[in-house]
Amino acid sequence: SSSKKNNNNNSAVMTKIHTEIRTEPFMNNYDLVGKELGRGKFAVVKKCVEKATQNEYAAKFLRKRRKGADCRNDVLNEIAVLEAAKANPYVVGLHEVYETRHEIILVLEYAAGGEIFNQCVAEDDDEAFTEDDVIRLVRQILTGVAFLHRNNIVHLDLKPQNILLTSAQPLGDIRIVDFGLSRQVDNKSEVREILGTPEYVAPEILSYEPVSTATDMWSIGVLTYMMLTGDSPFLGDEKQKTYLNVSKGIVDYSEEVFEGISHLAVEFLKSLLHLDPSNRATAQECLSHPWLNTDSSSRTLITITSTTTSTADELETSQSESEPESPD
Ligand code: ADP
Ligand code: MG
Repeated sequence: SSSKKNNNNNSAVMTKIHTEIRTEPFMNNYDLVGKELGRGKFAVVKKCVEKATQNEYAAKFLRKRRKGADCRNDVLNEIAVLEAAKANPYVVGLHEVYETRHEIILVLEYAAGGEIFNQCVAEDDDEAFTEDDVIRLVRQILTGVAFLHRNNIVHLDLKPQNILLTSAQPLGDIRIVDFGLSRQVDNKSEVREILGTPEYVAPEILSYEPVSTATDMWSIGVLTYMMLTGDSPFLGDEKQKTYLNVSKGIVDYSEEVFEGISHLAVEFLKSLLHLDPSNRATAQECLSHPWLNTDSSSRTLITITSTTTSTADELETSQSESEPESPD
């Protein structure tokens, strides 16, 4: 029963890989150490040490059967993308691949700093990113994503849980992980799929329109918004509300949210969070945006201009008066 949906997917999925798939037991060559690094629907990631070298790695154990379907090709696609991006330092490195009866194990470069998600939501000011940190990290993310896009690969799951750091303190460099939803995009095959996490997905995914490299650029807008403000721009109390927020594309750029952040940062976000994919800046265009190319001494910061913020009542009024912006 090869459904239409599956045929569509396969046309965009890459299954030719060059890495040798090892069949000897993974545990012959590696020791598992410490607790789990992370876990998703079909994968568990554990820290391990290669016996021969004592080098640390992250082993991603991927189930081949998911919801009763054979998904080996999806795993091969994930490997093929990692191979294609080998030359880029901001995409996580792939060291080895093992296969057992039920799983494929990816032995990945270990990103010791964990997810940038943790710093995005940090209460503590010491742990939260400064604007200069965000500028450096967003440059790295864009460099990695521009590389993927030049090779006609879309990630389709860019979110703070899939952007890791080589170290947290001092703040290291980024590594893009999780190519489980990645696809090759070309002019021939249109990819239309409902996927990703509503909070971070672009409106065209919700309305079942074709995905493209611009789909990733929306997610980079959401990601950057969170790194700067700690707030998720479209997250609602319920999933349906989040969907609605994304499909309207209304973003809060108020002074309250952006106090102490530069005007250029807001301009950068606005260049990405357009409902119409064709209006969004490309990764290459983003890299030449003034926000990423102006030193901190010459950036002007947003200040709260309102003079009446003494009581809760007044605060409420001043917020409802500054309407959030709707793009396009
Ligand atoms: P899933 O497809 O299940 O989301 P991911 O590849 O995103 O799998 O891995 C799940 C989590 O495991 C990540 O969000 C991260 O916290 C952790 N993780 C993944 N790869 C690494 C790595 N190379 N180094 C350190 N932690 C990792
Ligand atoms: Mg993930």
